[in-house]
Amino acid sequence: MQGRMMFQSLLISSLLKHAARYHSDTEIISKNTDGTITKTDWTHISENSKRFANALNALGMQQGDRVATIAWNNHRHLESWYAISGSGLVCHTINPRLFPEQLVFIINDANDRVILFDKTFLPLIKAVKPHVPNVEHFICLSAFDQDVADAIPDVKFYDVVIAEQSAEYEWPEFDENTASSLCYTSGTTGNPKGALYSHRSTVLQSYAGAMPDSLNLSARDIMLPVVPMFHVNAWGTPYIAAMVGCTLVLPGPGLDGASLTALIDEYKVTIALGVPTIWQGLLLAAKAVNSSLPTLKRNVIGGSACPPAMMKTFRDVYDCETIHAWGMTETSPLGSLNQLKSKHNALSDDEKLQIRLSQGRPPFGVEVRITEQEKGMVEQPNDGNTSGNLQIRGHWIINAYYGKNESALTEDGWFDTGDIATIDADGFINLQDRAKDLIKSGGEWISSVELENIAMGHPKIAMAAAIAAIHRKWDERPIIIAIKAQDSDITEAELLDYFSDKIAKWQIPDRVIFVDSIPLTGTGKMLKKDLREQFGSVLLESETN
Ligand code: ADP
Repeated sequence: MQGRMMFQSLLISSLLKHAARYHSDTEIISKNTDGTITKTDWTHISENSKRFANALNALGMQQGDRVATIAWNNHRHLESWYAISGSGLVCHTINPRLFPEQLVFIINDANDRVILFDKTFLPLIKAVKPHVPNVEHFICLSAFDQDVADAIPDVKFYDVVIAEQSAEYEWPEFDENTASSLCYTSGTTGNPKGALYSHRSTVLQSYAGAMPDSLNLSARDIMLPVVPMFHVNAWGTPYIAAMVGCTLVLPGPGLDGASLTALIDEYKVTIALGVPTIWQGLLLAAKAVNSSLPTLKRNVIGGSACPPAMMKTFRDVYDCETIHAWGMTETSPLGSLNQLKSKHNALSDDEKLQIRLSQGRPPFGVEVRITEQEKGMVEQPNDGNTSGNLQIRGHWIINAYYGKNESALTEDGWFDTGDIATIDADGFINLQDRAKDLIKSGGEWISSVELENIAMGHPKIAMAAAIAAIHRKWDERPIIIAIKAQDSDITEAELLDYFSDKIAKWQIPDRVIFVDSIPLTGTGKMLKKDLREQFGSVLLESETN
């Protein structure tokens, strides 16, 4: 017997409809590419989104066609996002920090018909345009601009395009499994691969992401997604914001600490999200201008491990609760988030901090397990001790990459994340490392993340990466590549000594190399592959000297 309840497809347009209907005057604050601020609200976001959906229709777009964006987090990007997915097209968000060859590859691989771009990326558009012959329309996300018009023949301007269209538009109804958006992995190894999300996966992830043990979002929140909309859809926040009807503060191009501190203080941001390198900049800037970030109650840190010293500073200096989260492009990305349970209530603050430093536990809708490859992919116990390959399955986890016939899953239907982790009985995941970043010394594994956390806990260190250097006797030994904090006079011996009471002696790095900068990936993570290429032979060199 079937249940006798209504069926409605879970569609992205329904999120915007809800926000426009029940949170119509809730503000959306957006920093534009030229530095000015636009204040709008869910009603106007919805109206412009409908105008742009009409415009896409007029350009002859058909269901399933890909429309790409190369843009900052701003209101025009938000409007066009909803227009693209809502009207049945696929919103392909492109990371502008990729190399031009990678950009060309993914635009052609996705077969994008339209590209929307912010003026900042005009040089990039000029460089890739000759190599992407299937793109029919370029639309600059601005009012008419003579420089852009001179540089790109036949370019269109978003403000002009939507001004010609009506705000009357009926969002179409279709199967909830229809593709909604496309996001490529950053491809640190090999060519980038596309994760193709569906309306259903996106809406279900939004429910899960809003819950109290996830981001704990409500209509009373003022949310600043610093994480870009091209980095796994800003971790789903623009969808969750519409679902709960909160205010969004969209930071545009200003991702430096000073700009973010000013935005948080001026617009009374209650929750902000970003990768650790963003927070590093913010903490320096807040200190410099003497701001206590009084309204910021929660911050979400993911993408790379949150250094313990950072979480402590947010707690002790800013009275801000850090939610550590883990995920990846293939998991939409919410895989786990860290919130305590009632049994932790009696613990001391430092014991709680210790638990909150783990990557957290999965929300309802996803399951995780660890397996041991050498034991034939056998599932390992969730005892918080045994480590193995972290695997995941659930409603918003990839099944197959875009354009590929083969499944992306194990034979029994799990996605292998490439991360090495432990899981405890409560489901708390402790990520040891990415499999390829682990350091193998004399047959024993050393976690690069653990070494980095210790190094970054030293007050005289601004940033540190731990990598494997080739060693004649031990195969690999850990070395640290570090940036000193401002005005710091720390020496190699001093930093190495700092490790001595924190880890076993054989895990202490062999060398520290101080540098002025560490290369970052397109999503702000330390590019350890490049560091390995540059510094991987230093131990061999010092031997021959
Ligand atoms: P990329 O593969 O391009 O870095 P993702 O943004 O999808 O793209 O990165 C996913 C990876 O980032 C995860 O597999 C994991 O190794 C790492 N990661 C994400 N969140 C965390 C976290 N909280 N702690 C440690 N590592 C993390």
